[in-house]
This record gives sequence, structure tokens and C-alpha cells, in this order.
Amino acid sequence: MKLCEFIRPASLSAARDNMRELGKRGMILAGGTALHFMQDHTPVTAVDITRIGLSYIRPEDGYYAIGATTPLADIQRYRAPRWALHEICRRISTHQIRNISTIGGNICRVFPWADLPVILLAMDARMVVYSGEDEEFSADEYFSFQTAKRFLDGNILSAVKVPALQARHGFGSIKVVRTEASFPLVTIGALLELEGGAIKKARVAAGSAIPFPRRLPEVEAALTGKEAAPEVFKEAAAQAGGAARWRGREGMSPDYSRHLAEVAIFDALERAANFARGRTE
Ligand SMILES: Cc1cc2nc3c(=O)[nH]c(=O)nc-3n(C[C@H](O)[C@H](O)[C@H](O)COP(=O)(O)OP(=O)(O)OC[C@H]3O[C@@H](n4cnc5c(N)ncnc54)[C@H](O)[C@@H]3O)c2cc1C
Repeated sequence: MKLCEFIRPASLSAARDNMRELGKRGMILAGGTALHFMQDHTPVTAVDITRIGLSYIRPEDGYYAIGATTPLADIQRYRAPRWALHEICRRISTHQIRNISTIGGNICRVFPWADLPVILLAMDARMVVYSGEDEEFSADEYFSFQTAKRFLDGNILSAVKVPALQARHGFGSIKVVRTEASFPLVTIGALLELEGGAIKKARVAAGSAIPFPRRLPEVEAALTGKEAAPEVFKEAAAQAGGAARWRGREGMSPDYSRHLAEVAIFDALERAANFARGRTE
């Protein structure tokens, strides 16, 4: 996109009106870091939503509500009991990028390397989309197709609601990179709900090494009802092959990607189990 003009609306509804009027000639602008990756040079008017009060993190009825324009650096620095989102945010690119890049920008157009969709899928987050009124989507529904399509008619993501983890919950994420700040080779998020020593519920999601972020139902099925133990994690991780179409890239074969994913799934599950048992790094 080529930004030719800027509009700074004073409210969410004004931004939505601007986008409705502009149609294809308008583009929501948050951190603006994704422009670097957009090959299309169509002239557009940028509707800057960074000053309409959408930068916040607050506990709200069993969730942490995160405003769409909250920078990744704020999420990285935030601390609360059983807060887990900082773990992945501190591993996204560099300090400079995290200072301006927003949670909304990361999930309103999903690039193959995007880390947050994987984590939000595993955490069972909810997305709030404003179209004149708020509509909430589960992560499963929201990420069921390229999310940019959801915003073609000028709707705006206003917030993300991340469930507050309870004592019985554990969360772990693993991002495999070649070097610090490089794009992920594979990203895994795992949420375990334990009952005694057993796994009552599991949500495991992957990204980067597959065409689009998604949950891994075969891996989840191999965990549910079993003991939260390394042998079970290993057996579940071994189901990754049948759970997604692993891509070969950056010199890696599809088989190697799958193997990398298995290792990352095992590590994410161990982290999640340790988190649930109160052992965090
Ligand atoms: C060098 C580099 C490396 C990176 N590495 C990683 C990485 O490893 N992992 C990772 O996850 N990310 C990474 N990123 C960040 C990622 O690629 C995106 O650039 C970033 O997430 C976009 O956020 P933004 O706030 O800058 O969004 P913008 O660039 O402002 O917007 C991105 C898109 O979303 C739309 N949009 C933004 N907010 C909203 C909203 N609230 N409602 C509707 N539409 C909206 C915009 O119109 C645009 O289409 C990297 C970025 C750079 C520059």
C-alpha cells in the first residue's frame, strides 16, 4: 500500500465511518510495520486508530481485555497472576518493532510467520470486532480463514479477550528460530487443563511451518484423559505428522519441519505442565 493521506479519527465509531466512506481507498493503520511486507502499492488513505483509546490491558470478568492497538512491548511488560502472554511477545522480532507493532496488527492480517494467532488459538481467546456494534468471535472461528477478509468492509478489531488462567491451567509456548529476532521456523502454543495429575482438556496450536495457523486435533486427542507425563507428551507430539501439512522451507524438508514441530510440541507441553504445577521460568 502507498499511504497518500492520513486521517486521525477521534473515536472508534468515527474511524469506522471513515473506513465506510473510503471503501477500498482506505486502510486501517496501527503500528504500520506490516506495510513493509505488502507488495501492493495502491494509493490509500490511512485511518490511524492509535489515538482512540484502544491501548490498554485490564482484567475483566475472567478475561484480560487487551485493546487492539496495545503495542506488543506493553504486553511483554505486563504482569499479573498466571499471565502467560509476555512469553511469546518478548520473542517477536526486536524491541523497536515490538514498541510500535500492535496485537491487532498481528492478527488482522495473518502473515505466515505470525506468532500471536497460534497463541490465541491455544488460549481460546475471543476477538471483538466493531461494525457499528461489537461482535465477539471465538479464536476457532476468527482464525478459520485469512482474517484480512473479515475487515474488507471497514470493520475494526477493537479488543482481544484472553481467558485468565486458573490454578488448574498451564500454558506453554515455543518459538523455534535460527537466530534471535528472525522469523519462526515453527511456533507452538499449548494449554493444558489438569484434574489431579490427569489432562482434562488440551488445546495445542501450530504456525509458521504450516500454511495457516491452526489447532492440532490429533495431538489434543492423544492428551485428553491421560496423565500429564513426559511419555504421554512424547506420544502426543508424535501425532503431529497426521495433524497438519508441514511445509519445507529455508532449506528444511517437510519431514524436517514435522520433526521440529514434534520437538517443539513436547517442549511446549512440558512448559504447560510445569506452569500448571506452579513452576515458571
Ligand atoms: C522485520 C520484522 C520482523 C517481524 N517478525 C515477526 C515475527 O517473527 N513474528 C510475528 O508474529 N510478527 C513479526 N513481525 C510483525 C508482523 O509481521 C507485523 O508487521 C505486525 O504484527 C503488524 O502490526 P502493526 O501494528 O504494525 O499493524 P499494521 O501494519 O498497522 O497493520 C497490519 C494490517 O492489519 C490491519 N489492521 C491493523 N489493526 C487493525 C484493527 N484494529 N482492525 C482492523 N484492521 C487492522 C491493517 O489495515 C493492515 O492490513 C515482524 C515485523 C517486522 C517489520
